[in-house]
Amino acid sequence: MHRLLPSLALIAAVTASTLAPLPAQAQGEVNVYTTREPKLIQPLFDQFTKSTGVKVNAIFVEKGMAERVAAEGANSPADIMMAVDVGTVLDGVSRGVTQSVQSPALNAAIPAHLRDKDGHWFALSLRARLFYVSKDVKEKTLTYADLANPKWKGKVCIRSGLHPYNTALTAAYIQHYGAAKAEEWLKGVKANLARKPTGGDREVARDILAGTCDIGVGNSYYIGLMRGGSNEDQKKWGAAINVILPTFPGGGTHVNISGASVAKNAPNKANAIKLLEFLVSPEAQASYAKVNYEYPVRAGAQIDPLIAALGPLKTDQIDLTAIAKNRKQAAELIEKVGFDQ
Ligand code: FE
Repeated sequence: MHRLLPSLALIAAVTASTLAPLPAQAQGEVNVYTTREPKLIQPLFDQFTKSTGVKVNAIFVEKGMAERVAAEGANSPADIMMAVDVGTVLDGVSRGVTQSVQSPALNAAIPAHLRDKDGHWFALSLRARLFYVSKDVKEKTLTYADLANPKWKGKVCIRSGLHPYNTALTAAYIQHYGAAKAEEWLKGVKANLARKPTGGDREVARDILAGTCDIGVGNSYYIGLMRGGSNEDQKKWGAAINVILPTFPGGGTHVNISGASVAKNAPNKANAIKLLEFLVSPEAQASYAKVNYEYPVRAGAQIDPLIAALGPLKTDQIDLTAIAKNRKQAAELIEKVGFDQ
Protein backbone atom coordinates (compact mmCIF):
# COMPACT_ATOMS: atom_id res chain seq x y z
CA MET A 1 0.00 0.00 0.00
CA HIS A 2 2.72 2.43 0.97
CA ARG A 3 3.97 2.34 -2.61
CA LEU A 4 0.75 3.98 -3.70
CA LEU A 5 1.13 6.92 -1.41
CA PRO A 6 3.65 8.90 -3.42
CA SER A 7 1.63 8.53 -6.62
CA LEU A 8 -1.60 9.53 -4.88
CA ALA A 9 0.19 12.56 -3.53
CA LEU A 10 1.38 13.31 -7.01
CA ILE A 11 -2.12 13.00 -8.45
CA ALA A 12 -3.40 15.29 -5.73
CA ALA A 13 -0.69 17.82 -6.51
CA VAL A 14 -1.34 17.70 -10.24
CA THR A 15 -5.09 18.05 -9.72
CA ALA A 16 -4.58 20.99 -7.40
CA SER A 17 -2.29 22.72 -9.85
CA THR A 18 -4.75 22.34 -12.72
CA LEU A 19 -7.71 23.57 -10.71
CA ALA A 20 -6.12 26.35 -8.73
CA PRO A 21 -5.06 29.58 -10.37
CA LEU A 22 -1.40 29.64 -11.28
CA PRO A 23 0.77 31.00 -8.48
CA ALA A 24 1.24 34.74 -8.72
CA GLN A 25 5.00 34.37 -8.55
CA ALA A 26 5.29 31.63 -11.18
CA GLN A 27 8.71 31.91 -12.72
CA GLY A 28 9.71 31.30 -16.26
CA GLU A 29 6.37 31.28 -17.99
CA VAL A 30 3.76 33.49 -19.58
CA ASN A 31 0.11 32.73 -20.33
CA VAL A 32 -1.25 34.04 -23.59
CA TYR A 33 -4.95 34.08 -24.41
CA THR A 34 -5.26 34.37 -28.15
CA THR A 35 -8.01 34.51 -30.76
CA ARG A 36 -5.39 33.77 -33.41
CA GLU A 37 -5.04 30.29 -34.79
CA PRO A 38 -2.29 28.76 -32.65
CA LYS A 39 -0.42 27.38 -35.65
CA LEU A 40 0.08 30.89 -37.00
CA ILE A 41 1.59 32.24 -33.83
CA GLN A 42 3.28 29.18 -32.28
CA PRO A 43 6.54 29.49 -34.29
CA LEU A 44 7.05 32.94 -32.78
CA PHE A 45 6.41 31.67 -29.26
CA ASP A 46 8.93 28.89 -29.86
CA GLN A 47 11.53 31.45 -30.92
CA PHE A 48 10.84 33.46 -27.77
CA THR A 49 11.23 30.40 -25.52
CA LYS A 50 14.45 29.49 -27.28
CA SER A 51 15.99 32.91 -26.73
CA THR A 52 14.70 33.61 -23.19
CA GLY A 53 13.91 30.25 -21.60
CA VAL A 54 10.44 31.55 -20.73
CA LYS A 55 7.74 29.00 -21.49
CA VAL A 56 4.69 30.27 -23.38
CA ASN A 57 1.33 28.70 -22.57
CA ALA A 58 -0.95 29.61 -25.46
CA ILE A 59 -4.66 29.31 -24.75
CA PHE A 60 -6.82 29.53 -27.87
CA VAL A 61 -9.99 31.48 -27.09
CA GLU A 62 -11.96 31.86 -30.28
CA LYS A 63 -14.75 34.07 -28.93
CA GLY A 64 -15.51 36.15 -25.84
CA MET A 65 -11.89 36.50 -24.69
CA ALA A 66 -12.32 39.74 -22.74
CA GLU A 67 -15.54 38.46 -21.19
CA ARG A 68 -13.74 35.34 -20.03
CA VAL A 69 -10.88 37.30 -18.48
CA ALA A 70 -13.41 39.59 -16.78
CA ALA A 71 -15.27 36.55 -15.39
CA GLU A 72 -12.02 35.03 -14.09
CA GLY A 73 -11.39 38.23 -12.17
CA ALA A 74 -8.42 38.52 -9.83
CA ASN A 75 -7.61 34.81 -10.27
CA SER A 76 -7.28 35.00 -14.04
CA PRO A 77 -4.11 33.28 -15.27
CA ALA A 78 -4.10 35.50 -18.37
CA ASP A 79 -0.94 37.57 -18.80
CA ILE A 80 -1.49 38.64 -22.40
CA MET A 81 -4.62 38.93 -24.52
CA MET A 82 -3.87 38.72 -28.24
CA ALA A 83 -6.46 39.26 -30.94
CA VAL A 84 -7.11 40.09 -34.56
CA ASP A 85 -9.30 43.12 -35.39
CA VAL A 86 -9.11 46.42 -33.58
CA GLY A 87 -12.61 45.94 -32.15
CA THR A 88 -11.63 42.73 -30.37
CA VAL A 89 -8.34 44.21 -29.15
CA LEU A 90 -10.13 47.23 -27.69
CA ASP A 91 -12.89 45.11 -26.17
CA GLY A 92 -10.51 44.21 -23.34
CA VAL A 93 -9.73 47.86 -22.68
CA SER A 94 -13.39 48.86 -22.53
CA ARG A 95 -14.13 45.97 -20.14
CA GLY A 96 -11.33 47.15 -17.85
CA VAL A 97 -9.35 43.90 -17.99
CA THR A 98 -6.11 45.42 -19.34
CA GLN A 99 -3.35 47.37 -17.61
CA SER A 100 -1.10 50.23 -18.56
CA VAL A 101 2.37 49.22 -19.73
CA GLN A 102 5.19 51.70 -20.09
CA SER A 103 7.92 50.22 -22.26
CA PRO A 104 10.44 52.36 -24.13
CA ALA A 105 11.13 49.38 -26.45
CA LEU A 106 7.44 49.03 -27.40
CA ASN A 107 7.02 52.78 -27.82
CA ALA A 108 10.10 52.99 -30.05
CA ALA A 109 9.06 50.05 -32.25
CA ILE A 110 5.36 50.83 -32.75
CA PRO A 111 4.19 54.07 -34.42
CA ALA A 112 2.04 56.22 -32.11
CA HIS A 113 -1.22 55.73 -34.06
CA LEU A 114 -0.85 51.95 -33.72
CA ARG A 115 -0.77 51.81 -29.92
CA ASP A 116 -2.62 53.24 -26.95
CA LYS A 117 -0.97 56.32 -25.49
CA ASP A 118 -1.52 54.90 -22.01
CA GLY A 119 -0.09 51.51 -22.96
CA HIS A 120 -3.31 49.48 -22.70
CA TRP A 121 -2.93 47.95 -26.19
CA PHE A 122 -0.30 47.59 -28.88
CA ALA A 123 -0.60 46.65 -32.56
CA LEU A 124 1.77 43.84 -33.53
CA SER A 125 1.03 43.44 -37.23
CA LEU A 126 -1.09 45.02 -39.95
CA ARG A 127 -3.37 43.89 -42.73
CA ALA A 128 -4.53 46.30 -45.41
CA ARG A 129 -7.98 46.30 -47.07
CA LEU A 130 -7.26 46.43 -50.80
CA PHE A 131 -8.93 46.28 -54.20
CA TYR A 132 -8.49 43.18 -56.31
CA VAL A 133 -9.09 44.11 -59.96
CA SER A 134 -9.31 42.35 -63.29
CA LYS A 135 -6.33 42.75 -65.59
CA ASP A 136 -8.60 44.71 -67.95
CA VAL A 137 -8.95 47.52 -65.42
CA LYS A 138 -6.88 50.48 -66.62
CA GLU A 139 -6.81 52.48 -63.37
CA LYS A 140 -3.60 52.32 -61.37
CA THR A 141 -4.84 54.31 -58.37
CA LEU A 142 -8.31 54.42 -56.83
CA THR A 143 -9.97 55.73 -53.69
CA TYR A 144 -12.40 53.77 -51.52
CA ALA A 145 -15.10 56.23 -52.66
CA ASP A 146 -14.54 55.10 -56.27
CA LEU A 147 -16.11 51.74 -55.48
CA ALA A 148 -19.50 53.48 -55.54
CA ASN A 149 -18.88 55.04 -58.96
CA PRO A 150 -21.66 53.90 -61.37
CA LYS A 151 -18.97 53.03 -63.92
CA TRP A 152 -18.56 49.75 -61.93
CA LYS A 153 -22.27 48.87 -62.14
CA GLY A 154 -22.66 45.08 -62.00
CA LYS A 155 -18.89 44.70 -61.61
CA VAL A 156 -18.24 44.72 -57.86
CA CYS A 157 -17.68 41.60 -55.71
CA ILE A 158 -17.33 41.73 -51.93
CA ARG A 159 -17.97 39.52 -48.90
CA SER A 160 -20.75 40.27 -46.38
CA GLY A 161 -20.96 43.90 -45.38
CA LEU A 162 -21.33 42.78 -41.79
CA HIS A 163 -18.07 40.85 -41.74
CA PRO A 164 -15.69 42.62 -39.29
CA TYR A 165 -13.30 43.51 -42.16
CA ASN A 166 -16.02 45.44 -43.99
CA THR A 167 -17.55 46.86 -40.83
CA ALA A 168 -14.14 48.30 -39.90
CA LEU A 169 -13.71 49.73 -43.41
CA THR A 170 -17.13 51.37 -43.19
CA ALA A 171 -16.24 52.67 -39.72
CA ALA A 172 -13.14 54.29 -41.22
CA TYR A 173 -15.30 55.75 -44.01
CA ILE A 174 -17.58 57.31 -41.37
CA GLN A 175 -14.54 58.81 -39.64
CA HIS A 176 -13.35 60.43 -42.88
CA TYR A 177 -16.65 61.58 -44.42
CA GLY A 178 -19.36 61.37 -41.77
CA ALA A 179 -22.30 58.96 -41.49
CA ALA A 180 -24.49 60.50 -44.23
CA LYS A 181 -21.74 60.16 -46.86
CA ALA A 182 -20.95 56.66 -45.64
CA GLU A 183 -24.58 55.63 -46.11
CA GLU A 184 -24.57 57.07 -49.64
CA TRP A 185 -21.37 55.15 -50.36
CA LEU A 186 -22.82 51.88 -49.11
CA LYS A 187 -25.89 52.39 -51.32
CA GLY A 188 -23.63 53.11 -54.29
CA VAL A 189 -21.49 50.02 -53.71
CA LYS A 190 -24.61 47.89 -53.27
CA ALA A 191 -25.99 49.21 -56.57
CA ASN A 192 -22.75 48.11 -58.25
CA LEU A 193 -22.74 44.54 -56.93
CA ALA A 194 -22.27 41.71 -59.42
CA ARG A 195 -23.53 39.15 -56.92
CA LYS A 196 -24.73 38.86 -53.33
CA PRO A 197 -22.09 39.85 -50.75
CA THR A 198 -21.00 36.42 -49.61
CA GLY A 199 -18.03 34.05 -49.37
CA GLY A 200 -14.58 35.20 -48.36
CA ASP A 201 -12.02 37.60 -49.80
CA ARG A 202 -10.37 34.91 -51.92
CA GLU A 203 -13.67 34.28 -53.70
CA VAL A 204 -13.44 37.83 -55.03
CA ALA A 205 -10.31 36.81 -56.96
CA ARG A 206 -12.02 33.57 -58.01
CA ASP A 207 -14.99 35.50 -59.39
CA ILE A 208 -12.76 37.99 -61.20
CA LEU A 209 -11.08 35.05 -62.92
CA ALA A 210 -14.54 33.70 -63.84
CA GLY A 211 -15.51 37.08 -65.32
CA THR A 212 -18.31 37.68 -62.79
CA CYS A 213 -16.76 40.93 -61.56
CA ASP A 214 -13.99 43.39 -62.40
CA ILE A 215 -13.25 44.84 -58.99
CA GLY A 216 -13.60 43.74 -55.39
CA VAL A 217 -12.33 44.17 -51.88
CA GLY A 218 -9.91 41.86 -50.10
CA ASN A 219 -7.23 41.76 -47.43
CA SER A 220 -3.55 42.01 -48.30
CA TYR A 221 -2.43 38.69 -46.78
CA TYR A 222 -4.78 36.64 -48.97
CA ILE A 223 -2.63 37.70 -51.91
CA GLY A 224 0.30 35.94 -50.22
CA LEU A 225 -1.85 32.94 -49.28
CA MET A 226 -3.18 32.55 -52.84
CA ARG A 227 0.02 33.25 -54.75
CA GLY A 228 2.45 31.67 -52.29
CA GLY A 229 0.36 28.72 -51.10
CA SER A 230 0.11 25.20 -52.41
CA ASN A 231 -3.56 25.21 -53.50
CA GLU A 232 -3.53 25.05 -57.29
CA ASP A 233 -6.96 26.66 -57.72
CA GLN A 234 -6.04 29.55 -55.46
CA LYS A 235 -2.75 30.08 -57.30
CA LYS A 236 -4.83 30.65 -60.45
CA TRP A 237 -7.11 33.09 -58.65
CA GLY A 238 -4.11 34.99 -57.31
CA ALA A 239 -2.50 35.13 -60.74
CA ALA A 240 -5.71 36.36 -62.43
CA ILE A 241 -5.85 39.70 -60.63
CA ASN A 242 -4.01 42.96 -60.19
CA VAL A 243 -3.97 44.66 -56.81
CA ILE A 244 -4.55 48.33 -56.07
CA LEU A 245 -3.86 49.92 -52.69
CA PRO A 246 -6.84 52.29 -52.41
CA THR A 247 -6.68 55.40 -50.26
CA PHE A 248 -8.89 57.85 -48.48
CA PRO A 249 -8.38 61.34 -49.90
CA GLY A 250 -5.78 63.11 -47.78
CA GLY A 251 -5.24 59.84 -45.91
CA GLY A 252 -3.90 56.45 -46.76
CA THR A 253 -4.89 52.81 -47.07
CA HIS A 254 -7.24 51.35 -44.46
CA VAL A 255 -5.50 48.90 -42.17
CA ASN A 256 -6.67 46.64 -39.40
CA ILE A 257 -4.41 45.14 -36.78
CA SER A 258 -3.50 42.15 -34.76
CA GLY A 259 -2.62 43.39 -31.32
CA ALA A 260 -2.18 42.61 -27.67
CA SER A 261 -2.73 43.91 -24.15
CA VAL A 262 -1.25 42.96 -20.81
CA ALA A 263 -4.06 41.64 -18.61
CA LYS A 264 -4.99 43.64 -15.53
CA ASN A 265 -4.20 40.79 -13.13
CA ALA A 266 -1.29 39.28 -15.06
CA PRO A 267 0.55 36.89 -12.71
CA ASN A 268 3.67 37.10 -14.89
CA LYS A 269 3.69 40.76 -15.88
CA ALA A 270 7.44 41.05 -16.42
CA ASN A 271 7.45 38.06 -18.78
CA ALA A 272 4.38 39.43 -20.55
CA ILE A 273 6.19 42.68 -21.32
CA LYS A 274 9.26 40.71 -22.33
CA LEU A 275 7.17 38.70 -24.82
CA LEU A 276 5.53 41.80 -26.31
CA GLU A 277 8.95 43.43 -26.70
CA PHE A 278 10.18 40.29 -28.44
CA LEU A 279 7.19 40.31 -30.80
CA VAL A 280 8.13 43.78 -32.10
CA SER A 281 11.84 42.97 -32.45
CA PRO A 282 13.16 43.03 -36.03
CA GLU A 283 13.47 39.21 -36.14
CA ALA A 284 9.97 38.51 -34.83
CA GLN A 285 8.44 41.19 -37.04
CA ALA A 286 10.04 39.59 -40.08
CA SER A 287 8.70 36.18 -39.00
CA TYR A 288 5.19 37.60 -38.65
CA ALA A 289 5.48 38.88 -42.19
CA LYS A 290 6.79 35.55 -43.41
CA VAL A 291 4.34 33.22 -41.66
CA ASN A 292 1.14 35.27 -42.09
CA TYR A 293 1.95 37.59 -45.02
CA GLU A 294 1.12 40.50 -42.72
CA TYR A 295 2.74 43.91 -42.67
CA PRO A 296 5.08 44.47 -39.74
CA VAL A 297 4.32 47.45 -37.47
CA ARG A 298 8.01 48.14 -37.01
CA ALA A 299 9.44 50.50 -39.61
CA GLY A 300 12.11 48.85 -41.72
CA ALA A 301 11.22 45.27 -40.72
CA GLN A 302 11.34 42.85 -43.63
CA ILE A 303 8.12 42.34 -45.62
CA ASP A 304 7.40 39.13 -47.55
CA PRO A 305 8.37 39.64 -51.22
CA LEU A 306 4.84 38.71 -52.41
CA ILE A 307 3.43 41.54 -50.28
CA ALA A 308 6.26 44.00 -50.95
CA ALA A 309 5.54 43.51 -54.68
CA LEU A 310 2.11 45.14 -54.19
CA GLY A 311 3.87 48.47 -53.75
CA PRO A 312 4.53 50.71 -50.77
CA LEU A 313 1.79 50.82 -48.14
CA LYS A 314 0.88 54.28 -46.87
CA THR A 315 -1.30 53.51 -43.87
CA ASP A 316 -4.25 55.70 -43.11
CA GLN A 317 -3.39 57.76 -40.05
CA ILE A 318 -6.82 57.97 -38.46
CA ASP A 319 -7.12 56.91 -34.87
CA LEU A 320 -7.86 53.18 -34.60
CA THR A 321 -9.89 53.88 -31.47
CA ALA A 322 -12.24 55.91 -33.67
CA ILE A 323 -12.67 52.91 -35.97
CA ALA A 324 -13.51 50.68 -33.01
CA LYS A 325 -15.96 53.28 -31.74
CA ASN A 326 -17.68 53.72 -35.15
CA ARG A 327 -18.17 49.98 -35.75
CA LYS A 328 -21.62 49.84 -34.20
CA GLN A 329 -22.86 52.74 -36.31
CA ALA A 330 -21.22 51.17 -39.38
CA ALA A 331 -23.08 47.90 -38.82
CA GLU A 332 -26.35 49.81 -38.41
CA LEU A 333 -25.84 51.62 -41.73
CA ILE A 334 -24.93 48.36 -43.48
CA GLU A 335 -28.19 46.85 -42.24
CA LYS A 336 -30.18 50.01 -43.01
CA VAL A 337 -29.20 49.97 -46.70
CA GLY A 338 -29.86 46.21 -46.87
CA PHE A 339 -26.32 45.67 -48.09
CA ASP A 340 -26.37 41.89 -47.69
CA GLN A 341 -29.94 41.39 -48.96
FE1 FE B 1 -8.91 36.73 -42.89
